[in-house]
Amino acid sequence: MNKPSIVIVGAGQAGAMAAAELRQSGFDGRVVLIGDESHLPYERPPLSKDVLLQPETARCQLFADGFYEERNIELRLGARVSAIDVEARHVSLADGETLPFDKLLLATGARVRRLPLLDRLGNDVYTLRTLDDARKLRPVLTPGRRVVLVGGGVIGLELASSAIDLGAHVTVIEQAPMVMGRCSPGVLNEYLCNVHRERGVVLHLGAALTHARRENGEIVLTLSDGAQVTGDAVIYGIGVEPDTRLASAAGLDVENGILIDENCRTSHPAIYAAGDATSQWDRLTRRFYRRETWENAKNQAITAARAMMGIEPAEAGVPWFWTDQCGMNIQFAGDMAAPEWIVRGQMDESRFMLFGLNDGELVAAITVNQAREMRSAKMLVDKRARLAADVWRDPQQNLRALLNAA
Ligand code: ADP
Repeated sequence: MNKPSIVIVGAGQAGAMAAAELRQSGFDGRVVLIGDESHLPYERPPLSKDVLLQPETARCQLFADGFYEERNIELRLGARVSAIDVEARHVSLADGETLPFDKLLLATGARVRRLPLLDRLGNDVYTLRTLDDARKLRPVLTPGRRVVLVGGGVIGLELASSAIDLGAHVTVIEQAPMVMGRCSPGVLNEYLCNVHRERGVVLHLGAALTHARRENGEIVLTLSDGAQVTGDAVIYGIGVEPDTRLASAAGLDVENGILIDENCRTSHPAIYAAGDATSQWDRLTRRFYRRETWENAKNQAITAARAMMGIEPAEAGVPWFWTDQCGMNIQFAGDMAAPEWIVRGQMDESRFMLFGLNDGELVAAITVNQAREMRSAKMLVDKRARLAADVWRDPQQNLRALLNAA
């Protein structure tokens, strides 16, 4: 009997990790990993940081060069899947080749949300999503260069931090009243604004971009509050959109992402999906969630690989992500929409934690330069610990000990 074949579309972090997990879990059929980029699979977090700051030594490759061959994973780089034939169970590559599958994993990721107003300017307008994007950006961030960042989300602020480190003059334009609004609470966001301003970043908050033009070799941006911002280069990071094109064309259920259940199954029994392309059902809240994080890509990759082999997935823990900016490591766990936040430690010493409560229950925790506390903090969130506000506030309290008390 022929051995089963699993085809993975998308050789980013989710796709590559799923391939690795299949072999790790003992799958001995055919594994084909198809990606349209020419690079070996890599991780994105370093792209806005080390790849810009230390281009010679930065490493973002996910696995070593020989990893795929050693595990008999057929890696097809620079290859684009153009269609899925659900009935015939094969995918077609752009060059006409077809690859049969018993199970298919879509790990097609997300694409930069475009801003046509800026794209129309042509040169000197950049976005950051891929390794090639990062390599193009590196020579843009030079001492004295006036760089305008549109979008004050995670990408925008990480880029602002790197650009300042590289000596550029930086202006950030954010249309919402506050930076990082999508994923981080107000108390931390205000703090971050101050830190960036102290480092020289000019922040325009609560103003949308209305016009963009090129004048005497400069880029001039007009904002809804009438302000004008002039720069030599513009980088925008206004979020991403899940790449659901193949899934939609194949007739899968899609709504702001490829819809998947807790086992990463799509609406077709032979097709699974993982990573930034997906929107996953959450049993507790009875909602679909999109989580554009490194950890989510990893967890879903492992879950999908195991589910394709008929192995029960592990329970997903408290959602977690991090950002590095202005020399700080900031980690987030749990529900960032928590209505009440308590600060533990001194914010002005750049070393503190935030605890997010909902009805007295711990639902979120943030560490700023206190990464070692994250493990215990996550467990406290998982436990939905209930302790007095004074206890949360007190940096002398040992979090591990609190785990027993909670
Ligand atoms: P990313 O991962 O790309 O940083 P986020 O969703 O974290 O994505 O952040 C994107 C930010 O861009 C949000 O804070 C959003 O308010 C902001 N934004 C979206 N559109 C515009 C725009 N036209 N001008 C300025 N800021 C924008």
